[in-house]
Formats: sequence, structure tokens, C-alpha cells
Amino acid sequence: NEYADISLKDIDQVSKSSFPLCMRHLFEKLREDHHLKHGGRMQLGLFLKGVGLKLDDALAFWRAEFTKKVGAEKFDKEYAYSIRHNYGKEGKRTDYTPYACQKIISSAPGVGDHHGCPYRHFSEDNLRAALGRMGLSSRGMEDVMDKVRNKHYQLACTLTFEAVYGTSCDAGINHPNQYFEESQKILKS
Ligand code: SF4
Repeated sequence: NEYADISLKDIDQVSKSSFPLCMRHLFEKLREDHHLKHGGRMQLGLFLKGVGLKLDDALAFWRAEFTKKVGAEKFDKEYAYSIRHNYGKEGKRTDYTPYACQKIISSAPGVGDHHGCPYRHFSEDNLRAALGRMGLSSRGMEDVMDKVRNKHYQLACTLTFEAVYGTSCDAGINHPNQYFEESQKILKS
């Protein structure tokens, strides 16, 4: 669609302006650690495909980070396949779709994993710190934490969206790519 097309040169800026918290977190961890475990690579990789990152750009993006830690040969052998796979270029050639919130919320990240939904999987302290970095006021933060305590994670994300962009989101957030698209609509209007 008209909003879904990001290129590599824009990706850092767009990650800060339009990614939901789950994807901001994965993106920042990847930039920081130059690595993500399988669950994180799937969750972020399919999301990026959904926002319009082309396969060649995706390969360049992951390769640039991973090869700060592993050799290019190891990257090509162990990781490039699954990126092409996500784009339907390997194996059964299924064109995999990005994960919806429900799937992400019900995932079970283990130690060292960064996938999942921060509203569901972060400690309260970490979540508050992350919301502070997104610019939420203390009032806005309390509203979000209230939804989290009641296990209404998608509503917590919707309130975050509304606080960040200063506008209502009546449909509610149910998909990270929907969050991205709604955000781009606002920022580009
Ligand atoms: Fe991501 Fe959905 Fe959780 Fe928001 S509610 S952080 S979009 S998984």
C-alpha cells in the first residue's frame, strides 16, 4: 500500500517515529547486540517485510548487523536462508505473513530473547522506562499501566499510540503493521 515502503536509509528514523514498542525494542537490541535469537528474527523480520522492506534490503540490513559479530560466511550459511525463507524464496515458498498482536502476546520469550509484547513481557520497571523514552507523561503512563494490570495489552498499546501521536485510534491496535500504517498516515498527513 501507499504507506508501506521503507528503504534502508530511512529505517533508523522510521523505527523511532513509527514502530510499536515491540518492534522498537527488537530493532534497538539488534543495533546494540548485532544479534537476535530466532524468535526475534522472525518477529522483526516479518514485520519489516510487512512495512515494505524488499528482500535485498532485508538481507543487507541483517548482514550488516550480524557480520559485526560473525563472519560473512557464517551469516550466509546460517541466517540468510531463513530471511529468504520468510520472503517465500526457499523451502515450500510460502509467503509468510507478519505476526499479529495476539500471536506475539501469547508467545513465551525465554532468557536472552527479545521478542514478545513489552506490555505483556516486560517487568514494570522496564516498561515504564521504555514508555518514558517514547515521551509519555506520567499521567499517560499511569493510564497505560492500568490497562497492563488488567491484562489489556492491546489497549495499553492503543493508549500509547494515542499519547504519542496526540490523536484517537478508535479501531484499537491489533497488529504491529497496523500500528505502523496508522502512524505513517498521521505523520505524512
Ligand atoms: Fe506490539 Fe501489539 Fe504488543 Fe503493541 S500490543 S507492542 S503492536 S504486540
